[in-house]
Amino acid sequence: MNMNYDEKLKILIIGDSTVGKTSILTRFCKNEFSWNYLATIGIDFFSKDIELTNPNKLIRVKIWDTAGQERFKSLSKSFFRNADGIIIVFDVSKKDSFENLQFWIDSVHNNLGKTNNNNNNNEIEENVKVIIIGNKIDLIREVNKEEGIKYSKESGFKYYETSALTGENVENSFLEFINDILDGNKKKENKKKGIKLNDNKNLINKNNEENWCFC
Ligand code: GDP
Ligand code: MG
Repeated sequence: MNMNYDEKLKILIIGDSTVGKTSILTRFCKNEFSWNYLATIGIDFFSKDIELTNPNKLIRVKIWDTAGQERFKSLSKSFFRNADGIIIVFDVSKKDSFENLQFWIDSVHNNLGKTNNNNNNNEIEENVKVIIIGNKIDLIREVNKEEGIKYSKESGFKYYETSALTGENVENSFLEFINDILDGNKKKENKKKGIKLNDNKNLINKNNEENWCFC
């Protein structure tokens, strides 16, 4: 199928191994879940098409998964290149994955921050949106919601909680994030042109089996 996209977004999903990154993407893109350990599956990215109304726009969202290399805590600069958004995931049932968030935030700074890297999160935000997701909320927690909110707020990022298993809040988090990225892009463009726009929250998830694929 040859589609004309009005906009293409590159989103990355990073975080410790086994926190559920691949599962969240599988839930969002295919509405499926698997108990199998998927670390070695080797798929690099998922795609999903999203239709925006008023004005009508077709958006292709490509979400890049780390497919196992996160175990070695070394993600290449090319992985980060031209990213519009980054999702940093931890597992609310595993405290150490929460404690490792700073490592992943630092890796975003190192790869996308300004050269005089002074760890000011707002400096990343200008170019790329970042959110933190606490996944596996269907399990017994080692990290409560307030801790997640507090840490994310201090880091300057929005916070969401999901369960890839039950599907709770997965679609909502992604759509809100995509909307924020598009809003940011629009504002950047209009800042250049000197136009002021009203906020328009008109995302529609096509949610049609034909509209996602492993490319
Ligand atoms: P990744 O290494 O971050 O990509 O993690 P995976 O997506 O491979 O998930 C690791 C394991 O956690 C798998 O066995 C998944 O089935 C399981 N898992 C992922 N998300 C959830 C969740 O929301 N709840 C529960 N209970 N298990 C999950
Ligand atoms: Mg994975």
